[in-house]
Amino acid sequence: MIKTSGLGYTYPGGASLFFPDVDVAQGTVLLLSGPSGCGKSTWLALVAALVAPTSGSLTVAGQTLDALKSVAADAWRARAIGFLPQRLHLSTALSVYQNLAMAQWAAGQPEDAPRIHAALQALGVPELAQRKPGQLSGGQAQRVALARAVLLQPQVILADEPTASLDDAAAADAVGLLLTTAQAQNATLVIATHDARVAQRVPPGASRQIVLQPSYILHKPL
Ligand code: ADP
Ligand code: MG
Repeated sequence: MIKTSGLGYTYPGGASLFFPDVDVAQGTVLLLSGPSGCGKSTWLALVAALVAPTSGSLTVAGQTLDALKSVAADAWRARAIGFLPQRLHLSTALSVYQNLAMAQWAAGQPEDAPRIHAALQALGVPELAQRKPGQLSGGQAQRVALARAVLLQPQVILADEPTASLDDAAAADAVGLLLTTAQAQNATLVIATHDARVAQRVPPGASRQIVLQPSYILHKPL
């Protein structure tokens, strides 16, 4: 489902990051942890084909990513990956409903109102469809962003620091929602986080953990 081999990424003119090999089956929960700056967001960007690896190879949801051209990568990502970014990137000028509809347009699909309402319902926020993102609490905004991420039933859900700006109760809620949503869709779930509260909420028997270390990064000498 997600399989990497010798994966590395060098920022143009910047640090070179080297990642441990990963091989997880469909439906796995993978906790990607490690201190700030150790490469978690970069690893997610590689898995989502937002950037191409500078070394090694990876296969995600049956697709070998280094062979993907950028247009094909966009189409593949829209179908296969549900991304919950650290900053949610909800369009403030659009309603919640329209934000979800945009995900369908981006994937080349017709707008499907029943599906949008069902996704909001599944995340417990059916009443928010006509609100603007500026009228939502942090927890509500995250539910909406998660509804958008999983709208097209992706095989892989990637969440980047999903509890970063949440208090304990909302953080527990967010992790619970990610787990139940991934399980309901049999999706592989990756949670990238340096928040110890997340690990406490993920059942160890049902998950795998990879800890990135700062020593995996080569910094270019000045
Ligand atoms: P994390 O998500 O674990 O905090 P990141 O993947 O964001 O870590 O960053 C990993 C390393 O790559 C850091 O050392 C960071 O300074 C470097 N880095 C991240 N983004 C860029 C960028 N756009 N240009 C150059 N270096 C970057
Ligand atoms: Mg990060």
